[in-house]
Amino acid sequence: MMFADNTKPDCPIAFVNQAFSDMTGYTSAEAVGRNCRFLQGPETSVDSIALLREALASGQVIKLELLNYRKNGEAFWNEVQISPQVNEAGDILGFIGVLTDVTERHRLNAETAQMQSRLASILDNMPGYLFQRSLKADGALALTYCSPWLGNILGIPLGDLANGTDLLAYMHPDDVGAARQSIAQSAADLSPLLLEFRLMTPGGGVRWIRNQSTPRHTSSGAVVWDGVGLDITAEKAAEERLSYLAFHDPLTGMPNRELFATALAKAVALAVTADTHLVLFRVDLDAFDEINDELGRVVADSILRNVAKRISDFAESHDGFAARIGGDEFAVFYAMSRSDGTVQDAAAALSHILAEPHPLAEGNYAVEAGIGVADYPFETSIDIASPTAAPELMKRAALALQAAKRVGRGIHRVYVAESDTSQHNQIILRRSLRRAIEENQFKLHYHPLVDLGSGTIVGAEALVRWNHPELGLQAPDIFIPFAESSGLIVPLGGWIFKEAMQQVKAWQARGIAVPRIAINVSGVQLRDPGLLATVEAALSQTGMDASQFELELTEGFMIEASPSTLKVLRSLKMMGFMLSVDDFGTGHASFRYLRDFPVDKVKIDQTFVRQMVIDSSDASIIRAIIGLAKSLDLDVVAEGIETTVQRDFLRDEGCRVGQGYFFSVPLTAEDFGYLIERDVRLPWETSAASPARRKQKKAQAR
Ligand code: C2E
Ligand code: CA
Ligand code: CA
Repeated sequence: MMFADNTKPDCPIAFVNQAFSDMTGYTSAEAVGRNCRFLQGPETSVDSIALLREALASGQVIKLELLNYRKNGEAFWNEVQISPQVNEAGDILGFIGVLTDVTERHRLNAETAQMQSRLASILDNMPGYLFQRSLKADGALALTYCSPWLGNILGIPLGDLANGTDLLAYMHPDDVGAARQSIAQSAADLSPLLLEFRLMTPGGGVRWIRNQSTPRHTSSGAVVWDGVGLDITAEKAAEERLSYLAFHDPLTGMPNRELFATALAKAVALAVTADTHLVLFRVDLDAFDEINDELGRVVADSILRNVAKRISDFAESHDGFAARIGGDEFAVFYAMSRSDGTVQDAAAALSHILAEPHPLAEGNYAVEAGIGVADYPFETSIDIASPTAAPELMKRAALALQAAKRVGRGIHRVYVAESDTSQHNQIILRRSLRRAIEENQFKLHYHPLVDLGSGTIVGAEALVRWNHPELGLQAPDIFIPFAESSGLIVPLGGWIFKEAMQQVKAWQARGIAVPRIAINVSGVQLRDPGLLATVEAALSQTGMDASQFELELTEGFMIEASPSTLKVLRSLKMMGFMLSVDDFGTGHASFRYLRDFPVDKVKIDQTFVRQMVIDSSDASIIRAIIGLAKSLDLDVVAEGIETTVQRDFLRDEGCRVGQGYFFSVPLTAEDFGYLIERDVRLPWETSAASPARRKQKKAQAR
């Protein structure tokens, strides 16, 4: 407190109490005799002072806050209440001032304001919202709080949401059921609640939201979740884009070969039960490379898009499915109805549609196409089980197409069973497979796995070959499917294990450092209860260590694997085998199993590598697979490398190891032993005429 004497010039202070001295640091002796303004300083508000003066001059009581300065120079907020003392004549004799230090209150206010503006800025800028949801004991579900973002997105006042309703009302109808279920579950066991759902915005748009919250009980018996909802629309779009890229051709927007294969397999499976007549057309434009050269890439592309449109329309008019399955190759299938006429008629109709000239800026330009047709069910007595029927159908249409191409341009041909001698050979092979195992007609070839940086051989994949006494060397693609469907893969697989181990033993006996050898294991073998015993016997008979080998399992099988096969995989892993997923990326399924299964490695399927051109969708898929493998801490191998461009791309993307004809064809044990003994780098550039080199040359000439 203080008193200032207005009867003296410049209204000096006449009295201050101890509290004044404690607050300002000035003793009574230092303060008395001076005008109050000595407490003011550079930051004191000029406006406040003016206000103060005005009030005092007119004799009013005034209360305001001023920034004042203590004797030590420290600023403080001073709440000042000044009351004038007036005599009967109305003269102002002096002023009584009551001063309070409110610095702390000021600081708290400023802090709160700053926190609020920070929070507001976070809420404004975060891609999502904070919320609180409650489930009352009577079952009422409501958002009791949500930050403004949500209201903005939904185009409704916030009050509407925090007013007894829940988001469920704004969710995509397909997501509501699952959301309700998860909320009920989380309320029941107080487990964290994770929801992903779509919000429907007023403009007809859709936002993907990922919602994460933790439940707790309140004293009133309600369950309350505090959480955050994030806008993951962009993430979802990227995911969809990736899966779209994986299954569509960027130039024409048509489905690609993989999607076509899946659709055809489904249609065939359906045709078996529904007894429908499926017809498949394969189309190959005649001399398209000439068109490319003659008209240039841009015009050629526009012709491809025209053709794609015609073929898509043709498919649509028959409720069918069409795809671009290669550069200038297309395919269509549909279920024929009685009114559709014959398969020949249908092929002629398609041929006619394609022969229409394309109106180009340069004038009309006709492009002819060869068409190969095959249909299902098959006429022949050969019992083709449905899983192989779709590839068989594709193969037949391809054979018919080849026949058409042999005749000339613009020709269509329907597949005729009798014309296919390979069919005949297949029957022979099937019949003689059992004997071949007994008579040891098989051998293993070794396909080098190469370090993409240095060319060092870091492993090999054992690939089985059948040396048939009459038909000659047979590739596994031809007989492995039979071996699997007949169960003969079990004894054959047993032989392969033992043979590979014996071979490694023989190399080691010669003092060669043998890299890890990969052995293909079929899903049928993994379901065989005797597998572990077979493998153990092979290991102990040859004295080999399991860590010298790697087992390749196809992705398709991994997706279907049952708990019991998972157990077998775990046991193999425990024994010391390295496990890798073969043909990775063709499974068309989520990659979740990679986390559940004890695998060490993925082999990128060769179709991606083969079709890869920089910036194609296959390149994006390869990039995505390498990223995925890295994030799961798995090794990656790329298969089917045939060119320097492919090798360089893969190496630059971070894939360390690869396999393919660019480095070498699969080699006999003798040739492979020759290379590893000399620690040869691949591709092998010396002119030494070794058996390995000669073979490689021959393969490249093919
Ligand atoms: P896979 O396991 O995907 O084996 C890779 C196949 O791709 C091999 O064909 C290999 O020669 C070939 N390849 C590798 N690099 C290139 C390349 O750069 N270009 C081209 N065009 N091809 C390349 P192969 O030996 O005909 O084997 C075919 C399939 O047969 C194998 O595919 C595998 O599924 C099966 N198979 C082979 N050996 C065995 C075996 O011992 N056991 C079992 N269960 N299946 C086997
Ligand atoms: Ca393989
Ligand atoms: Ca493969």
